[in-house]
Amino acid sequence: MERYYQPEIETLPYEKIREMQNEKIVKQVKHVYENVAYYRNLMDEKGVKPEDIKSVDDIKKLPFLSKADLREAYPYGLLGTDLKNCVRIQSTSGTTGKRVVAFYTQHDIDLWEDCCARAIVAAGGTNEDVCHVCYGYGLFTGGPGLNGGSHKVGCLTLPMSSGNTDRQIQFMMDLGSTILCCTPSYAAYIGETLAEKGYKPEDNKLKAGIFGAEPWTEEMRRQIEKSLGIKAYDIYGLTETSGPGVAFECSEQRGMHINEDHFYAEIIDPETGEVLPEGEKGELVFTSLDKEAFPLLRYRTRDICVLTREKCSCGRTHVRMSKPMGRSDDMLIIRGVNVFPSQIETVLLNEGYTPNYQIVVDRENNSDTLDIYVELSADQFSDKMAETQKREKVLTDAMRAMLGIGPKIHLVAPKTIVRSEGKAVRVIDKRKLHD
Ligand code: ADP
Ligand code: ZN
Repeated sequence: MERYYQPEIETLPYEKIREMQNEKIVKQVKHVYENVAYYRNLMDEKGVKPEDIKSVDDIKKLPFLSKADLREAYPYGLLGTDLKNCVRIQSTSGTTGKRVVAFYTQHDIDLWEDCCARAIVAAGGTNEDVCHVCYGYGLFTGGPGLNGGSHKVGCLTLPMSSGNTDRQIQFMMDLGSTILCCTPSYAAYIGETLAEKGYKPEDNKLKAGIFGAEPWTEEMRRQIEKSLGIKAYDIYGLTETSGPGVAFECSEQRGMHINEDHFYAEIIDPETGEVLPEGEKGELVFTSLDKEAFPLLRYRTRDICVLTREKCSCGRTHVRMSKPMGRSDDMLIIRGVNVFPSQIETVLLNEGYTPNYQIVVDRENNSDTLDIYVELSADQFSDKMAETQKREKVLTDAMRAMLGIGPKIHLVAPKTIVRSEGKAVRVIDKRKLHD
């Protein structure tokens, strides 16, 4: 039986969600216009007044906000309330450049933690669970968000934060953790370490994992599920809108439900800014509907995905987003061909390799080069030159079939590629360093 944290909202019929959104957006736009000079100026430049926004259909009249705006307005330029009303600051991870900060009132923290609680319950969490949180705590939203959600559900919360894998495993085994929350790359590392210590998947008490904060493939999901003996759920979010929990997976595991009572989602063409119809792939744009301290209207996430309103077997009615295949700026253009790191991960895992790899892009004699370093497991590792060469050839061919260009594959010895405890850095683009 499917369980919900806030059933009346999570299963609200679509028309009712719309009504709720329409009421909220009018208030949110007014709140922003009156309190956020930076955005008021953008609206004035575009000639849009708060009265022009009568329902979510009018959102498309509003100007976009981008990470560049957040950097320009840093630190207080987008604050929607007096600092004295704020109780928390969090910051982005800085994956793509200078970090930006977000502010929260107690109301904002509450709604964010509710979203995380919905995710935990959707993954089967109850007050009988031991929720082991090894997302980083601190400025990063992962730890605090899931920690808060776990409290709301009533789980026994283990605030491990990231790192010190031996200690993670010791507590996991001694205290019987049942739900694991961390980045998928760290989950894979924990699985690997458990096996090295001689544990089998059935030796731990884990039943579910809630993994996000970075792109991961279906192949990676299967591998983690197998190594830990769990069901692995995706969770999505970004600091700008609150943190993890903006969207989360249910038992159906086909896309993540976006918490539409708090966030209105659009998909746009990243080139033209035009809103695309349901089912088309494009850039995800969020409008907060009821935030006080850091309300963002039409924030461009740069995450590329698809939305669907198809009925979901879990009974939730909120729109679903597909797994983001990476950010628009994660896409590598190599010799004119578009390559997503996620495509490389898919090939590697399908070919039986571990998710320990590194992609290096460079430019030699005016031509782009793509090198992929792939770590061999102990079983795959061989002293025989001929065997290694054969492996390299098979993998190069599989990559060429997927990507349309042939990379140079380097098979490296076990334990030579550094493991990630937070967001994995998969790509080193040396071309950017030269520019
Ligand atoms: P930064 O943008 O500096 O990494 P955040 O820590 O706020 O800062 O990360 C938010 C970003 O992380 C999202 O915009 C998205 O690109 C990525 N992300 C978060 N969750 C997922 C997920 N489940 N799948 C893919 N990417 C994700
Ligand atoms: Zn569902």
